[in-house]
Amino acid sequence: MRKTLISAGALCLYAASLLAQAASTLSPRVREYVSVDAPVVALTHTRVMDGTGGPLLADQTIVIANGRIQSVGGSGTVQVPAGARALDLSGHTVIPGMVGLHDHIVYETNNRIVNLNFSAPRLYLASGVTTIRTTGALEPYSELSLKHEIERGRIPGPRMHLTGPHISDGEPFDLGLPGNTVLWFRFVKTPEEARRVVAYWAEEGADWIKLYTRITRAEAAAVVDEAHKRGVKVTGHLCSVSFREAAALGMDNVDHGFLVNTDYDPLKQPDQCPPDFRQRLLGVDLNSDEVRATFRDLVAKHVAMTSTLAVFEPSVPNRPPMDQRVLDALDPEVRAEFLGVRNQRAMSRDTTALLLFRKAQQYEVAFVKAGGLLAAGMDPNNGNLPGFGDQRNYELYIEAGFTPAQAVQILSANGAKVLGVSDSLGTVAAGKLADLVVIRGDPASNPADIRNVTIVFKDGVGYDSAKLIESVRGLVGVR
Ligand SMILES: [Zn+2]
Repeated sequence: MRKTLISAGALCLYAASLLAQAASTLSPRVREYVSVDAPVVALTHTRVMDGTGGPLLADQTIVIANGRIQSVGGSGTVQVPAGARALDLSGHTVIPGMVGLHDHIVYETNNRIVNLNFSAPRLYLASGVTTIRTTGALEPYSELSLKHEIERGRIPGPRMHLTGPHISDGEPFDLGLPGNTVLWFRFVKTPEEARRVVAYWAEEGADWIKLYTRITRAEAAAVVDEAHKRGVKVTGHLCSVSFREAAALGMDNVDHGFLVNTDYDPLKQPDQCPPDFRQRLLGVDLNSDEVRATFRDLVAKHVAMTSTLAVFEPSVPNRPPMDQRVLDALDPEVRAEFLGVRNQRAMSRDTTALLLFRKAQQYEVAFVKAGGLLAAGMDPNNGNLPGFGDQRNYELYIEAGFTPAQAVQILSANGAKVLGVSDSLGTVAAGKLADLVVIRGDPASNPADIRNVTIVFKDGVGYDSAKLIESVRGLVGVR
């Protein structure tokens, strides 16, 4: 009902829903992971990358009161209120809570697809991701309940923007190993059917709708129309519809970037996903008129792009560098499978995957240069763990040529912009909700420091990152 009752008053109520969650409302199960809980907190002597893309700020003090950032500025100029709980963060860096736009609760391997209702929300929060868009649900009702349980303070986790199930045309297909059939999408046959699914999920509480690779233009058009009527936005992992077509159809966001865009494929037929088109992407000239035309259309129609570099990287032999945190968190059987796939790939001498990956990175840099709105997500998959993948994106943006400040902006402020919550989230600024990530070290000069998250503030409540990660040891891939 919420979406169909939008009036001036309802909009105010919706805006008001971004109130800070008070620590006093947290259940013991959540409170167990809280390390900083005081009405007024001062983070002193810290470096700050504030999410605006501006320069790294040295020796800053951030005052948090009632779940919001009350003030931020040079440690000499910002007064620490009497009675504040002060944390000396010399040697640390603070960034805004990350906003993950392709951050599923579901985890996929070559032979299984599992909902991580227990571990995913914990890992996102522990990693500094305080807001997620789920972008395709295996269990839409688990996600709906999870969101409510997090909001009620009964489960630790990020704020959630829901998408409902994947919507695709076509038939169930195999993913990874033969017989690992994807049955959980909503496969539609007509625009009318697609419209009905959208209407249903909008009523149920989806904030976004996620389209998948075989959707037709007519179905996508019906989805966009029905969704927008109900205040719901549309994104997609596309193929049969190219990015320029998505812009023309009025979609709000396209996921995954270069490696799924069929704008440049000579074999592309209308409404069809061309076979093996990724092979032919290597030949695309990033300075060509065709690429410029894509960017021009996306910018003109305000279509954001969600980058998911972390999910593509493992297709490159020996990448990413092995992360002990991943091995510790995975269930033993899932870990063995992950290592098997990784070792198999490591034997490959083929450089295609590496060249394609680099091209995907360059495409994103070029999109931002062209004025595009690039945000980030990570798609948990084969050793790419919830939250850890969002952190890996930071390193991959710097490798691509973005500045550290731009990388933080992509991971925080840009995501908030796409979700329409910039007024409350996305940057370190007075008046915003106190979603802040405390990092030991200096990720601006040593990108891998992004992994050294110590405290994650959500609504001004500080969560113990290490304790949350420890709580899922050996469970990822199963729970
Ligand atoms: Zn995905």
